[in-house]
Amino acid sequence: MPAPLLNLYDLTRPQLIAAFGRWELNPVHVGRLWNYLYLELADSFAAMPELPARVRERLARETRFGLLATTAERDSSDGFTRKYLLGLEGGAAVETVLMRFNGRVTACISSQVGCAMGCVFCATGQMGYTRHLTPGEIVGQAVHVARALRKPALAKHCRHAPGVAPRLRNVVLMGMGEPLHNYDAVMHAIDILRDPNGLALAAERITVSTVGVVPGILRLAEEQRPLSLAVSLHAATQAERAVLVPVAKKWPLDALMAACRTYSERTGRRIFYEWTLIEGANDTPEHARAVGRLLQGLPAQVNLIPLNPTPGFAGTPGRTEAAKRFQSILAEEFSLPSTVRQRRGIDIAAGCGQLATEKSAGSPV
Ligand code: SAH
Ligand code: SF4
Repeated sequence: MPAPLLNLYDLTRPQLIAAFGRWELNPVHVGRLWNYLYLELADSFAAMPELPARVRERLARETRFGLLATTAERDSSDGFTRKYLLGLEGGAAVETVLMRFNGRVTACISSQVGCAMGCVFCATGQMGYTRHLTPGEIVGQAVHVARALRKPALAKHCRHAPGVAPRLRNVVLMGMGEPLHNYDAVMHAIDILRDPNGLALAAERITVSTVGVVPGILRLAEEQRPLSLAVSLHAATQAERAVLVPVAKKWPLDALMAACRTYSERTGRRIFYEWTLIEGANDTPEHARAVGRLLQGLPAQVNLIPLNPTPGFAGTPGRTEAAKRFQSILAEEFSLPSTVRQRRGIDIAAGCGQLATEKSAGSPV
């Protein structure tokens, strides 16, 4: 079998410069190629007329665009959310979501095909784990969304100057998969997304959401990466958490909270703690007080996410009043800020925890 061609989206700018050096190509052309990839969002070598034909021919022979083909595409009925099913090489697929509300454009991107963590209420967890995504496949999703934003039909609902296409400014790694289980590829992809000469995403507008992979949180703290971190908590006692999040048996709540404390101390950053509200299971005033006590003294914000339906879990999100009561306990008794996530894209299964493709054999961590 021939060696797989180098995926251009796998390369940071310095890596692309090094590759051009090895190929003895004119360094001026590397800048043009980079601009075509990340500013013009070109989708073929033919769409790079400023590169000499022999350079394009060599690129076509020795590299490839890891373009992600749209296998399916759906808009939510309110027009605020679009979900893409993107085909990967080798036959797998991932889901990527473009959200446009409150004047913000956000891409929710995947880090793995499936997920090995097995959270009981999550459709991705229910499908099991197939494989990690490569850096190029992660970057490719952001490029796909950035390209889609150039189409005039998508411009509505975004606050921007007339005639100017909205830019992708926010990326959340909250799609399929556990980003800190695929740490190296995710951080490499983020380096590419942040390149000031490319998509130029601000680090704090890139949110990595983790189920609580303790070694990954400690590594983030060590490396002082200026990203936004969200930790999916869902329960404030080890016994309750282990029921919802089986991987809590591997990384218990005590160890998780110690890692979060270290992260906030080393980086000076607040953590967003996510809490999927499940009626009766974790939405009572006692649960609110337990999370208030757990997070006391930590720089924290709680993001409450009313449970979205998935095929393998029978729980319900509970009533709006329960979420409001939860919020006011956090605010009044613990001075803890919180938000309730807007439910969007549920009609196309594009809400938190609803992303899934085909079932996989999967293996738990
Ligand atoms: N694996 C990472 C990121 C992807 S999940 C993590 O777990 O944090 C993104 C968020 O969606 C997480 O906070 C997760 O707990 C939440 N989620 C999963 N299933 C959900 C569901 N059915 N309803 C609401 N939120 C859900
Ligand atoms: Fe994986 Fe996150 Fe879903 Fe848990 S909630 S199964 S960690 S994607």
